[in-house]
Amino acid sequence: MSHSSKNSNTRSRLCDCGHLGMVKTSWTNDNPGRRFFICERIECGKFKWWDPPMCSRSKAIIPDLLRRLNRHEDEMAKVELKMKKYKRACHILSSMLLLQFVWILFG
Ligand SMILES: [Zn+2]
Repeated sequence: MSHSSKNSNTRSRLCDCGHLGMVKTSWTNDNPGRRFFICERIECGKFKWWDPPMCSRSKAIIPDLLRRLNRHEDEMAKVELKMKKYKRACHILSSMLLLQFVWILFG
């Protein structure tokens, strides 16, 4: 069974062995968004699903929605970078225009 998780969505819980464990969220294609518990002590190895099994419709839809969301976030980051460059260029151009205006008036 393979699983992965995002650290931003974790909660501490006490494991049966007495050590801390974490409730994390799986983002695999088989269990997208499904939470699981895992013990921090490697020797313990406790792993159990926190949420019930996902229905087939959720398994089919959520990975595609996540891919779309990631693609949109990438596009947004590119647009924001371009906007920063344009704002910087606008600031430089407006400063140059102001200098020319001052030079024409008082030069
Ligand atoms: Zn444990």
